[in-house]
Amino acid sequence: MTDNRTLLVTGGAGFIGTNFVRLAAGHGFRVINLDKVTYAGNPENLTSFPGDHAYEFVQGDIQDRALVSRLLDEHRPAGVVNFAAESHVDRSIDDPSAFVQTNVVGAFELLQATLGHWKRLEPEDASRFRFLQVSTDEVFGSLGPTGFFSEKTPYAPNSPYAASKASADHFVRAMHATYGLPTLTTSCSNNYGPYQFPEKLIPLMILNALDGRALPVYGDGQNIRDWLYVEDHCRALLDVLTRGEAGATFNIGGRSERTNIDIVRHVCLILDEWIPPRQNARLTSRARPIESYAELIAFVADRPGHDRRYAIDPRAIEDALGWRAQHSFDDGIRKTVRWYLDNRAWCEKVSAGAYRRERLGLGARA
Ligand code: NAD
Repeated sequence: MTDNRTLLVTGGAGFIGTNFVRLAAGHGFRVINLDKVTYAGNPENLTSFPGDHAYEFVQGDIQDRALVSRLLDEHRPAGVVNFAAESHVDRSIDDPSAFVQTNVVGAFELLQATLGHWKRLEPEDASRFRFLQVSTDEVFGSLGPTGFFSEKTPYAPNSPYAASKASADHFVRAMHATYGLPTLTTSCSNNYGPYQFPEKLIPLMILNALDGRALPVYGDGQNIRDWLYVEDHCRALLDVLTRGEAGATFNIGGRSERTNIDIVRHVCLILDEWIPPRQNARLTSRARPIESYAELIAFVADRPGHDRRYAIDPRAIEDALGWRAQHSFDDGIRKTVRWYLDNRAWCEKVSAGAYRRERLGLGARA
């Protein structure tokens, strides 16, 4: 018998995975977290949280089919949720190899192990089992000034990251169509919130501003993304996992389109209010004092192939599962800035590796 309250989560030591494990454990799920612990993974995110008595961490690679098979046999989970990925577009431009290895080959090996396990389940367990692939709206390519991505939008990935995620999604679809594996795929817009590695736009801007460093905005800053607070995404994933029909795909988004420059200005306004530059010791020694963090904004060379606009039509998940984003952008961004201010030690720790908040993604190592 499978255990209806056990989940195998992969990549649970990363940004969204950490938030998901906390939410699932809070809802009474026993979570086994398989994570390779790349530069983006931090198992210490999950040392103490409500429900942690039933949580187990396993360091390992989703490409290791034997390890995944052993975990499935041992724990007999009701489902697998795949977050494990290389996730930064700029890194995929510099060197896509790791993206192919983890996002494509890794997802494939994980699916093969899952398929083998699923075929051995009793019919009732097999029909309840789910494999949830956590994907991204980037697989759909770029929108013009109008329109939205729906579940029917054809895939048109433009970055190596998006191509690798699209490839995995196709394998997930094929596993369902060919073998009947009960899969689910979600495509979500840009997430923000606690535990995001400081290479991504919002934490990078918060930390650079506090340090008085330049706030690099790519191109003209007019690229639009549809921003979703990470807890809203994780609630959607739990809804899809527990109530989604096998084979379903859902787009997840917060109806919250913002240009990059608006995001950066918004972060600056919150910081101006909470830690005025003239009271920030890192800034008071500057030759030219500043009144607002926005004075640190610097437009830099655009990302090659930078998609102009993403926007999600979330009506399918709203109608089918009754899910709604609960955080407005203003609520979510204030919570996020507060979390980074309160967790400077976490920021120092995860930034202690090779990454120094330098510019990535100009293709230098390609
Ligand atoms: P992240 O980079 O913060 O975390 C990725 C995690 O996967 C890390 O803990 C890392 O150690 C682990 N990992 C990497 N390679 C692995 C491997 N081979 N085997 C096992 N573990 C491995 O990423 P994130 O932002 O939390 O994104 C999680 C998932 O959600 C990804 O699949 C991403 O494509 C998708 N997604 C992200 C966003 C977003 O805005 N961040 C939006 C939509 C979808």
